[in-house]
Amino acid sequence: MIINPTVRNNFFTNAHPEGCKRSVEKQIIDIKNLGPFKGPRNVLIIGGSSGYGLASRISLAFGSNAHTVNVSFESEPRGKRTGSAGYWNNVFFQHYAKETGNKHKDFLGDAFSVETKQQVIDYIKRELGSVDLIIYSLASGVRKNYQTGETIRSQIKTLGESISGKTIDVGSLEVLELEVLPATAQETEDTVFVMGGSDWQDWVELLDSQHVLAEGVKTIAYTYIGGETTGAIYRRGTLGKAKEDLEHKAQEMNLLLQNKYNGEALISSSKAVVSKASVFIPQMPIYVACLYNVMKAHNVHETIHEHKYRLFKDMVYGSSRLVDEQGRIRLDHLEMDPTIQKETLNLMMSYNNKDVFKLQGTTDFLQEFYEINGFQVEGINYDQDVDIEQFILDYVPTDY
Ligand code: NAD
Repeated sequence: MIINPTVRNNFFTNAHPEGCKRSVEKQIIDIKNLGPFKGPRNVLIIGGSSGYGLASRISLAFGSNAHTVNVSFESEPRGKRTGSAGYWNNVFFQHYAKETGNKHKDFLGDAFSVETKQQVIDYIKRELGSVDLIIYSLASGVRKNYQTGETIRSQIKTLGESISGKTIDVGSLEVLELEVLPATAQETEDTVFVMGGSDWQDWVELLDSQHVLAEGVKTIAYTYIGGETTGAIYRRGTLGKAKEDLEHKAQEMNLLLQNKYNGEALISSSKAVVSKASVFIPQMPIYVACLYNVMKAHNVHETIHEHKYRLFKDMVYGSSRLVDEQGRIRLDHLEMDPTIQKETLNLMMSYNNKDVFKLQGTTDFLQEFYEINGFQVEGINYDQDVDIEQFILDYVPTDY
């Protein structure tokens, strides 16, 4: 079949396997070119099929020669459905990772469930013995509460007044004005349940209780702090509350890991990038487009995998860790530089809705969003028929 992109409400409902293959390969080549560094041996990544989780996995598998175990929630191809980009990213990661000679395993399932956690731990016991790094990079709008059976949804809302914002609708290429409404107490609580730190803590406590944490173990989760432009919607909204909870849980886990394993629990504040999750957040698309423009002009732009490579090489395992007064790793220092923030804000204010599409940053943002779903990838002929069955036969491991 010919696969044309279909995007609804800034969400791609399909993906192009050939494009995903090339895009994963490109990230791997970049990381290899950046050179090896001393890092962890056995890594568990929760949410490693796309965005920051995938960039972390590639950085560690190809930068520090680590074994990796990844848990993600992705749709498989079925009939006319192409399967999600994350599904194909996993498949092609496995394909290219064969050359490392290390063990790389994928679990497709709900990371929130005890059943998935136990399957992963059984695998670690059997194949790796223990893990020395756990990365929590999950982004989800829903979480099933396995105790009550309820499905809880997170909400992107403000705390207090409603505010107006803008977003780029990728499907129609329009700037949409939107109003972000205040959350109820229940909605805030639900968002903290879905996107806060309790599931991360459940993972670490279960791994601890089943004796699969190695001496010196580290765990890390990714927060976002951001500046004034996104503050009202993000950091001072429901998502910010969830991130506060994540950061708080890191402090609790840090005590356990330090005392028992001489290890640590870390939070890294990462920069705003184009990902399946971030493009969904109001205001983020325009902010990221303008930010890209400004950071590229100042020569401080990093790709998503360069960002994570620097995190692990310099700040987690290296000696140039930048932390703030709350102990959070400030990998986002280039984004948060006052000049970058000021120029980004000025750009956002000076461009009217239509003109924003004339910005190189917007072109780059759109290109990257298509690319993370396998579209608009250089060198791919999109007029060519794609035989998904053949891709499955050629690349999908039999134990998938
Ligand atoms: P993403 O959407 O690209 O990736 C999310 C991952 O979570 C995928 O691997 C997906 O399969 C997995 N996932 C979702 N629900 C799951 C479930 N129930 N069970 C198992 N796996 C599940 O997201 P991202 O933007 O890379 O975000 C990852 C983390 O980084 C989030 O905590 C996010 O807040 C944080 N962060 C993102 C940005 C950004 O700009 N993208 C900036 C700073 C911090």
